[in-house]
Order: sequence, then structure tokens, then C-alpha cells
Amino acid sequence: MSLVVVSEYLQDQFLDRLRSHFDVLYDPDMFADRPRLLDEVGQARAIVVRNRTRIDEELLGRAAFLEVVGRLGVGLDNIDMEAAAAAGVTVYPAYGANAVSVAEYVMGAMLFLRRGVFTMTASMTEGLWPRQGHAFGRELDGETLGLIGFGSIAREVVRRASSFGMSATAHDPYVPADDPTWGAGVVKAGLEEVLAGSDVVSVHVPLMESTRHLIDEAAISLMREDSILINTSRGGVVDEDALAEALREGRIGGAALDVFESEPLGEDAASRFRGLDNVLLTPHIAGNTIESVDRVASITVDSVLGALAET
Ligand code: NAD
Repeated sequence: MSLVVVSEYLQDQFLDRLRSHFDVLYDPDMFADRPRLLDEVGQARAIVVRNRTRIDEELLGRAAFLEVVGRLGVGLDNIDMEAAAAAGVTVYPAYGANAVSVAEYVMGAMLFLRRGVFTMTASMTEGLWPRQGHAFGRELDGETLGLIGFGSIAREVVRRASSFGMSATAHDPYVPADDPTWGAGVVKAGLEEVLAGSDVVSVHVPLMESTRHLIDEAAISLMREDSILINTSRGGVVDEDALAEALREGRIGGAALDVFESEPLGEDAASRFRGLDNVLLTPHIAGNTIESVDRVASITVDSVLGALAET
């Protein structure tokens, strides 16, 4: 039996599936104990991780028998893919497994922020009737959704948004103009055009050097005054200081952030959003529903078992 190291949380039923084939070392907190992790990978043929175990040259150098990394998710910013390839280690992300969950989160955030009426419960339970004015928010119907990155999650968002009557533009230089996905309700556009022309901008790119602070002060300044920014991709893609300032000064209409430059967010970083009523913050859970966490684990464990069975 070969050793499979699982260095972050994995549900019991999927651990059992691994254990029925291999000797498994499981410690959901091992990612935080780097010296121990480096020791334990020494005998492993596979390691199963979420987004907190750093797979880099140092670890790969210590893992002489490593063949496979199973990634319980899709973001690869904790994995040095070049170093893995150079070491002959194959990485298996759970592509597509939580796309629906993230897309539904994006729809919820859009509806919440465009309408702006779902924060009234506290006043209502105080016995107040906060009905000043005639109109409360906007409809999504007829509005434009702008996508930064047009991969699997963005496509799920488009399917849902079009059923709400929205049109969509997307900026993704890596999806060629003749790709059949363009046209079905989505227009290919440049970054500036998407930012300036959308009522809702939703970010779906991986975090890489080229996407770090892609949405910075200059990008935010192109957005419409009442438009909404949603980021469920990776924290470093949006400059949080610039965003908080724009929200505070009313230069954009609202924002939903599920991902942050440093996670957990912490008091200092959180304080820049304090007191804002046009912001929705969640702790990197857009992709985690009851359905998706099982789907992610199942796909990852099957990939690891399949890969090890072949060698
Ligand atoms: P994907 O690989 O299917 O799509 C990403 C797209 O971004 C690709 O089409 C790529 O061409 C495009 N892209 C790359 N660089 C770009 C750039 N500079 N400008 C414009 N487009 C660019 O990925 P996905 O599954 O759709 O995931 C998107 C993001 O969502 C990832 O960052 C992933 O880590 C994150 N994610 C977050 C959660 C969560 O819980 N919040 C869950 C799943 C995925």
C-alpha cells in the first residue's frame, strides 16, 4: 500500500474511499505545520490539498515518490505548476465541480445589491416602516452583465443572468474570437469596454502576476457610478483599498467580495469596509454548498485513485 497524504479537511466517506485502496495519512491541519508536512511527503505517492497547502519547489524536492496532487477545488495559486511539471507530478483540480454554486452566489449578490432592500429587516423588527421614497433599487431585466474572465464559472453565470433578461459582455483574451461560446448571448469585449459598459461587473479570472490588481483604482474609475462589482475569484485580483474608497465616496454602487487579498480577512483589513451599507462580504464560501463540497471531493478522490491505479 502506498501513502496518500491528505493535508487539509476531507469528508469521512471520501477518506474511506481512499483508505480502501491506499495507506492514508490524514491531518486536516497539516498544511499549517510546514516542517511536519515536508517530512510526511517523503514517502507519499499522492497528496490531497485544498488551497492552504503550498506545493512548491521545496516540497516537491522533499517528495521523491510523489506522482499526483489532488486539488479539492480549482484555484491553483497555491501550486507551482511549472515546478510540479518539472518534477513529473500531475495536478488534478476538480474543474467545474463548484461552478454552479459560485454562479448562484453571483446571482444572489446581484439581486441583493441591485435591489438594496434586503437590509431592512432590522428596522422592520423594530416596528419601523422604512418606505421613504417611491422606488427601491433596480431590476436586472435589460441590464448589462460584464464578465472579466469567461471560463466555466462565468459561463454558468451567463446562463442564469440571461434568464433574468440581462445581456452580457465578457473580457477574456484567451478565448479566441471564433470560439463557439461567443455569440450565445455574450459579446467579446475589451477590459475597458466591459468595465465602462456594465451595470454589474463580475470577476472570474485566476490569480496570476498578470491579474494581480487587474481591478485597481484606474479600472474602478471606469465603472458607472451605480454599478456593482462582484469578486468570487481570488482576492489579489481586486485592489481592496481602492474599492473601499470608491464605495465610501459613492463612485460605484456596491460590491460583493467572497475572496480577499489576505484570508482570513482580519480586523485591520476588515476595517476599511466598516460602516458601508452597499457591500456584501463573505468568507470565501461562494463555491461551498452541500452539493458542491461532495462533488469536489468525489471528483478529486476519483482522479487520484485513477492516476495511481495507472502506474
Ligand atoms: P476557468 O479556468 O474555467 O476560467 C478562468 C478564465 O479566466 C479563463 O477562460 C482564462 O482564459 C481567463 N483569464 C485568464 N487571465 C485573464 C485575464 N488577464 N483577463 C481576462 N481573462 C483571463 O476558471 P473558473 O473555474 O471559471 O474559476 C474562476 C475563478 O474562480 C478562479 O480564480 C477560481 O480560483 C475561483 N473560484 C472561486 C471559488 C469560491 O469559492 N469563491 C470557487 C471556485 C473557483
